Order: sequence, then structure tokens, then C-alpha cells
Amino acid sequence: MSELPYSYEAPASQALFDRAAAVTPGGVNSPVRAFRAVGGTPRFMVSGSGPYLTDSDGREYVDLVCSWGPMILGHAHPEVIAAVQEAVARGTSFGTPGEGEVALAEEMVARIEPLEQVRLVSSGTEATMSAIRLARGFTQRSKVIKFAGCYHGHVDALLASAGSGVATFALPDTPGVTGAQAGDTIVLPYNDLDAVRAAFAAHPGEIACVITEASPGNMGVVPPLPGFNQGLKDACAANGALYISDEVMTGFRTSRAGWYGVDGVRPDLMTFGKVMGGGFPAAAFGGRADVMAHLAPAGPVYQAGTLSGNPVATAAGLAQLRLLDDAAYEKVNAVSARIQSLVTEALTKEGVAHTLQNASNMFSVFFTENPVRDYDDAMQQESFRFTAFFHSLLANGVYLPPSSFESWFVSTAHDERAVQRIADALPAAARAAAEATA
Ligand code: PLP
Repeated sequence: MSELPYSYEAPASQALFDRAAAVTPGGVNSPVRAFRAVGGTPRFMVSGSGPYLTDSDGREYVDLVCSWGPMILGHAHPEVIAAVQEAVARGTSFGTPGEGEVALAEEMVARIEPLEQVRLVSSGTEATMSAIRLARGFTQRSKVIKFAGCYHGHVDALLASAGSGVATFALPDTPGVTGAQAGDTIVLPYNDLDAVRAAFAAHPGEIACVITEASPGNMGVVPPLPGFNQGLKDACAANGALYISDEVMTGFRTSRAGWYGVDGVRPDLMTFGKVMGGGFPAAAFGGRADVMAHLAPAGPVYQAGTLSGNPVATAAGLAQLRLLDDAAYEKVNAVSARIQSLVTEALTKEGVAHTLQNASNMFSVFFTENPVRDYDDAMQQESFRFTAFFHSLLANGVYLPPSSFESWFVSTAHDERAVQRIADALPAAARAAAEATA
């Protein structure tokens, strides 16, 4: 068993974790899955159905991670599975253009007005990396502004002060990223327009783009203050730079048209992933047609991918998007609001200082009584309370993201029964949080 605390029985997961550790660094293929921030045995899941996951020990959990966002219809949605099976039967990859990728691009463009052209890739990391390359190629400038606590995937130039796993492990920098790769990145505090204006003034004619999470979810959920995104857009427009809205997490989740559908600020370029892939590796970047025209083979900025527009991934993504009508968003928003109020109620009852923040149906809890507006604020929380809260919920069959720097996600499949199970588990978790010591 694990030497870390909270290693209550999960023998089959632990055996798999031990096997994994022998052949994979840290036993996982993406760091936050290893539970290092909270300790204990990561649960190795064998199946998912609707709002539930079942681990290798046969224990069922209400899933509040939803694969970090993509599973907005719940696990194994019958229509998505049927679309995938139908696509798989026709072959899994051709390396040629195909109708599925056209249909997916059309669906995306139809939903998001500023998205005039789109290029499909396989991960959110590829999307942001390619968008930045394109912005640099288009503007013929080098520098990029990003915000502390915003995570845009593991792109070398964007790992400086990133959120998500980087925040979880408090790594200020990542070995392997050279000074040259990070040297053109300007990292500013989130929600601070004065800092953005000052950076533009300090680097006239040098800044290619500002990239921001449309509404950040990688330092916990920290929505933009009113006017922040518009201020970014205006500062970019005034200085000949591009405004890149990273909607990998928010895209097709926070509304039909993602965060653009919420705040209406028109980006020059946008990036997508997660929901648009229906649980498969599909992602995208796109935006202004005149900018996208600089992309190969239409233009000189190179970008490519063996599996880009993969027929199975695009079939899954298209099936999922087509099911995401207004009623679906109403359902996810309503169940999210219910769970949010149950969490607040339970923590308040136990006198636990906390701030629950949301961006549409994305939300997270910070164990601090102060509002969290940027990464520094997020770091002030009492994360040890989250650890106790997390493990109590896990022991009672509720699966939270294993870090206090992550958004929680729900789906249309989170029904009364699932909500009741969360409600039943919350009082003990709130008590555990109240009693926790650093
Ligand atoms: N951008 C944002 C806002 C994200 O949340 C993520 C992943 O969590 C990424 C980019 C990277 O996406 P991927 O993990 O698919 O590479």
C-alpha cells in the first residue's frame, strides 16, 4: 500500500499503480492523476456510465471531474457511442481529408460567430502552440503575454507560471524549457489591465499576442472581472497584437458558443479541445479568416498532424456537439448550481472559511474567505482543508479533481440520484475540512 496518508483500501488500484510505476514515470501519463497533491492511491478506473465511474476495486463514484471537462453528456452516452462505433467500422485513420472533419468544423463555425475558419489538431496543447506560432507569423513579432495561473497546455513558451498541474506542484519553472524558449513570454498577474497596458508601453511593436484562458479554470475557477477580456481585446487592437482566447476548457461547455457566448468579446484567434472531441483526442484553433489564411498550405506558417481530423474523434465530437442544444446547457447549469449550493451549505454549516467561484457551470471551492482574483490569491487558500475534504468525499463515493487548483465539472447525466449521493457525502467532508490541520 501507499506510504502516504489516507491510503485506505483500494488494493486493485494500488496493484495497478505499482505496475504502472515500474514502466511509466510516477505511474501516470499526466501528472495530476497521481494524487500527489492529496496523497493516497490514485483510482484506476475501468468504466464510466452517465455520472458514474467504477474503479478496479469495483467501487462506484459520482464523477465531478468528467475527464477534466470533455464528458459533458456523461460517460458512454449511447448516441456518442453509436456514432463512434459506426465510424470505427469504416476504418480508424486515412491520412486524407474526410467528410467528418468538414462537418465538425462547420458545426463549430456555425456556433461561434468570430470563428470564421478552423484547423483541427489532436490536443489543446497543439492548439495553443499552433495559435501562437500563427500569431507570431502573422504579426512578424515575437513576444507573447500570458497570465500567471493560466494553463495553456505544456507548450514550452507557455509553461511559465502556469496553473493546473504546474500550480499543484508549485513549480515556478520547468527544467527543460530554455531561457530562449521562455524569453519572449511576458507573464502578468491575471485580472490586471494596468499591467497589460504597461507591458504594451514597455515593448512597443514587439508583442504578437495576448493569450488568456477565456475564463480561467486552471488555478481553480477565477472568472475575468467585468471588462477584463474587453480591455485585453482593446489593448491588442490598439497595439497591433492579436487577442487569443483559450477556450480549450470553456469551449462548448460554458454555453453553446463557449465563453464567447457569455461575454461576447470577439477574439482574433481561439483555441478549443475537451468537449469538441467527445472524449477523443480532438482539438482546434481558429478565428479570423485573414489570419488563418497565413496557415499552410494556404500561407507560409507551417502546421500539420498525422491524426489531425481523425474520423473517429471527429465523429464523437460531432455527435456530442449536436446533442448539446439549449436544453442540455440549461440542464448542466441547473445541476451545477444545485451542487454548488449544497457544497456552500455544508461548508457554512461547519464554519469552514471558503469561497465558491463559478463560471457558468464550471466551479471550484477555495478554502479561504477572500475572493480569488488571481494566482496569488489562489495560493493563499488552506489547501490542507481541501485534502481532508477530498478524501472524505472519495471514501464516500464522490470523485473530485485531486487538487484544489482545478475546476469541478458536471454533466447532463448528473441526475437526482447522483446529486443525492453528493448531498449525503458532503456533511462528513465538511466536518473533515473543519477539523483538518496544516
Ligand atoms: N488550455 C486550457 C485552458 C486547458 O485547460 C488545457 C488542458 O487542461 C489545455 C489548454 C491543454 O489541453 P490538452 O491537455 O488537451 O493538451
